[in-house]
Amino acid sequence: MADALRDANANGRPILLRNGIIYSVDAEVGNYSRGDILIQGKIIREIGQDLEHPSDTLVIDSSGMIVMPGFIDTHHHQYETILRGILADGMWGGVENELHARNYGTVIQGIFTPLYTPDDARISQLIASLSQISQGVTTTVDTSQIHLTSEHTDATIEGLKESGRRCLVAYNANRQNAEARRAPELRRLREQYFSSDDQLLTLAYNSRSEQWETWHIGRDVGASIVGHCQGRDNFDEPALIASGEMGPDVEYIHCTRVSDGLLDAIADTGGHVSIATAIEMQMGHGYPPIQRCLDHGIRPSLSVDVECNMTADPFTQLRSAFTWQRALVNERSIHGEDELPPLLTCQDVIEFHTIQGARAAQLDARVGTLTPGKEADIIMLSTGLNVAPLHNVPGAIVTLMDTSNVQNVFIAGKIMKWRGALVQVDEDRVIADANAAAEGLVARAEYQNDLFETCCGGGLLSGEERAEISIERIKRGP
Ligand SMILES: [Zn+2]
Repeated sequence: MADALRDANANGRPILLRNGIIYSVDAEVGNYSRGDILIQGKIIREIGQDLEHPSDTLVIDSSGMIVMPGFIDTHHHQYETILRGILADGMWGGVENELHARNYGTVIQGIFTPLYTPDDARISQLIASLSQISQGVTTTVDTSQIHLTSEHTDATIEGLKESGRRCLVAYNANRQNAEARRAPELRRLREQYFSSDDQLLTLAYNSRSEQWETWHIGRDVGASIVGHCQGRDNFDEPALIASGEMGPDVEYIHCTRVSDGLLDAIADTGGHVSIATAIEMQMGHGYPPIQRCLDHGIRPSLSVDVECNMTADPFTQLRSAFTWQRALVNERSIHGEDELPPLLTCQDVIEFHTIQGARAAQLDARVGTLTPGKEADIIMLSTGLNVAPLHNVPGAIVTLMDTSNVQNVFIAGKIMKWRGALVQVDEDRVIADANAAAEGLVARAEYQNDLFETCCGGGLLSGEERAEISIERIKRGP
C-alpha cells in the first residue's frame, strides 16, 4: 500500500482518508468524529463527511485513527544528533550558571563542533530528520551551528533533502571568516538551493546578535530571521527594541529571563517565540516563559533544541509545556492568589506545536492545520492499547500517547511512514552511518565518554575554578 500511495501522490491520483477521527486545529474546518480528507498531489482538497470522490481515488480506511496536522518543531540543532545523550546531565553554560567542567559550551561547541566533517553534518541531519518524521514531526526549524565551510552547508542541505522533510534552514556562518562569509553564502544558498518558494526547504537567517546588516541581506534574499534570545546572553535588549528591525518575520528562541519590555515589543511587532520547555528546565536557561508569553499576548511555539541533552519526540514537548504551566499556576492557587490566568488545556499545547509552529516558521499559509488548500502534512495516530477507550481526542494526544501511536505520516501528500515503518528508508544503514560518524568524531576529539557514569559529575565550578579548567581536563571527564 505504501508504494500505491507514493504512486498516487506522484501521479496526481486522489487519495481519500476515509472515516478518520479528524482533529483539524482549524476552527473553521472543525473536527469530525467520523470524517474524510481528500488529498490530491500536495494539497488537501476537501474535508467533510461522506465525501464524493473521483472513481480513480485511492481510498484508505482510517477508522479508529486520529488524523491531525503533523507537529512543528521550531528550533532544533540537528547536527548534534550524532552526539545524542552525550551530555544528558549537562548544563547549557550561560553566564549566570554554576557549571560542571563539561557543559554545552565546552563540550559541544568547544570540543566537538570544530571537528565535524561535512559528512558528519549530513548523516546527523538525516538521522535527526528521519527520526522526527517517524515521531510525527513533519517540520523543523534547523538552527545548526555547523556551517563551518560551504562544504558543511552543502552536506547539511543534502541530508535534509534526502530525508524528504519540511524544514526552515536557519543559516549563519560559524567560526573561520564567519563575518566575511555570511552575506555571500546567504546569496549563494538562495540561488543554489532556495530559488523556488514551492519546495520543502525554505531559508532563514540565524542571527546571534545585532548583525543588522546581515538581517537586511537575509531579508533581501527572502530569508526570515531566527535568533536565540536568552536574557543578556544574546541580544542587547535595549538595542534590539530600539532597532526598528523587529517584525512578524522574526522568531525569538527561549526568551527566558528577558524583560517585560522585550516581550511587549515582540507582541507589538507580531514576532514569534519558541520555547524549549524541557531543555530550559534541564540545562539552566531559566524558567520556560510560557505564562509570561501568554500574559503578554504571545501564543508561543514549542521546540526540541538539542538531542545531546533531550529527546526530540513531540509528546515530550506537549507534556512538558502542559504540566509546567499548570504546576506554576496551581502553585499560585495553593498559595492563595485569586487573580489567576487560565490553566493550559490539551488543545492549547497542540495548537502551540502545530499552527503556532507554522507561524513561527513562516509556513502557516502552507501547513499547521488540516485546511483545504493547504499542503497535506498529516499524521495518523492509533487509538489502541494505551489509549482505548477514547473519550477525548486532544486529551488522548497530550496525556496518553507516545511515539508508538504514530502509524502513518504524510508530508506534502507523500507517504513517509506507513503502518509504523518509514517508507523506502534503510534504517539499518542510516543507524550504522550515524554510529560510524559518531565513533570517528569522539575519537578525533579524544573525548573520554563513559557509557554508564554521568557525563558531568564532580561538583559545580564557579569563579576562578572555571577560568582555570583546561580542554584536556574537560575531555578526561569528571
Ligand atoms: Zn538553541
